[in-house]
Amino acid sequence: MRFLHHPDSVAHKPPTYLVRGEPKPVPEVPERALALVEQLQRRGGTIEQAPLCGTGPLVAVHTPEYIHFLETAHRRWSELPGASAAVIPNAHPFTSTTTYPTGIVGQAGYHIYDTAAPVVAGTWAAASASAAVAVHGATLVASGKAPAAYALCRPPGHHATRQAAGGFCYLNNAAIAAQAALPVLAARGLPGRVAILDVDLHHGNGTQEIFYERNDVLMVNVHADPSAFYPFFSGYAHERGAGAGLGYTINRPLPIGADEATFLTAVAASLADIARYAPSLLVLSLGFDTFIGDPMATFGVTTPGFSRLGAMIAASGVPTLVVQEGGYAVGDLTANLGSFLDGFEGVIPAVETV
Ligand SMILES: [Zn+2]
Repeated sequence: MRFLHHPDSVAHKPPTYLVRGEPKPVPEVPERALALVEQLQRRGGTIEQAPLCGTGPLVAVHTPEYIHFLETAHRRWSELPGASAAVIPNAHPFTSTTTYPTGIVGQAGYHIYDTAAPVVAGTWAAASASAAVAVHGATLVASGKAPAAYALCRPPGHHATRQAAGGFCYLNNAAIAAQAALPVLAARGLPGRVAILDVDLHHGNGTQEIFYERNDVLMVNVHADPSAFYPFFSGYAHERGAGAGLGYTINRPLPIGADEATFLTAVAASLADIARYAPSLLVLSLGFDTFIGDPMATFGVTTPGFSRLGAMIAASGVPTLVVQEGGYAVGDLTANLGSFLDGFEGVIPAVETV
């Protein structure tokens, strides 16, 4: 298992977001990355700094307008008289005939779909570094240089859609990684099939949207029932893909309050789906907000439960890139990542020669 990170991940320091109408501190804090790094350090292996990847892999998934927006939004917003420290939209397009505006306030509403993705001075540096970590991991595993890698991505990515940020996410790291892996697999003569398994507490709505009409990326989600839980508007079992992608999106929403056994049973069923697809690469969107002690807690996964999850993923036998998504019990992240890696490495050794 290779461990990958980038120090710019901590540059993004979001202020507040709205919870039931009240401003609350964003729980997606830089300390999350530090807690995860601490676990990697404890394991004694090398923590590799991923090279920055430029915008090429980003525009393979996101629109060029969106990438330009993310890169320039904070500077342009700051030039407005009386502007806040963070870009937070106040008007969104909901008409059937939407015209792309030229001004930053309108573009903010176009490219940020909720109040939980404020853009601050360090957002672009951190988000682009986070995506680069995922791209580097995808290249390592897809090229056969490593059977598995853990990409310490922060900020997370799975709520970022093709052209919009939301839910603490800006660039869809897992989608960018899956897309970047495809030509690497093709160059080795391997089947061009990537599976994404998203086991974050929340539905990976951004990742689903990006691959919804494609059959070269299987998207399987296990998450809390969105009918009264974020992201609300997708993640239902009846969403199965469209066009060429029909049948290549699978959603397993679980009831609010689902316990560990229920969660792991749904993961097992998802791994069976993935085995039938026979992918050349598995991208695991790994959230620790399924933890029983998470401030978002609606699931009952314990710290030892993450070991079982890790062992199940490794036992699938598919070369795997683990991409970090959510998890907000900062004081427990070190132990929860350790438990996951213990389970995973029980099947795949911690150190390999390359
Ligand atoms: Zn989450």
